[in-house]
Amino acid sequence: DIIQINRQNIALQKWFEQVIKPYVEIARSQTKTLLPVIHLSGEGQLDADLIRQLIIILLDNAIKYTPAGGAVTFTVEKLRENRLKMTVQDTGAGISAEDKKHVFERFYRSDKSRNAKTGGNGLGLAIAKWIVDEHRGTITVRDNHPKGTIFTVIIPLK
Ligand code: ATP
Repeated sequence: DIIQINRQNIALQKWFEQVIKPYVEIARSQTKTLLPVIHLSGEGQLDADLIRQLIIILLDNAIKYTPAGGAVTFTVEKLRENRLKMTVQDTGAGISAEDKKHVFERFYRSDKSRNAKTGGNGLGLAIAKWIVDEHRGTITVRDNHPKGTIFTVIIPLK
């Protein structure tokens, strides 16, 4: 393995609130809204550095690809069998069916964003997928309604 999963015991509610907080401000400064829905209790073991990186990649994208006035929602909850489920939902342009097949590949960027002014090199989601795989979790992408995108991550807690 390139990297070892470095699990730490974490007070979950507080930790997630602290990770999300700066992005609420970043979104607001771009006249977008980030709504965190965090309902967790107790402690859990997770690799704080990698999971923070994963969340940041998804939030950065959601904010970047959502137009001014739009909204992003972050949710996290505990599922049965000590699994954590996170979603990042945006109201942006969405991702075409063809692009959805490729967004987790390195250096892949949709035509739309290659041609747009938004910066990026197409690595973010490949890194996100790698982090999820290292945790033996899953990451999926689907359409939000009426528009936008939903990324869903499920990872086991210790
Ligand atoms: P960076 O490497 O800086 O994150 P990036 O955003 O181009 O740059 P990825 O995060 O890997 O790279 O995303 C790959 C592509 O998937 C993007 O270029 C964009 O086309 C699409 N994409 C990712 N997230 C969203 C989203 N929330 N809404 C719409 N398109 C998205």
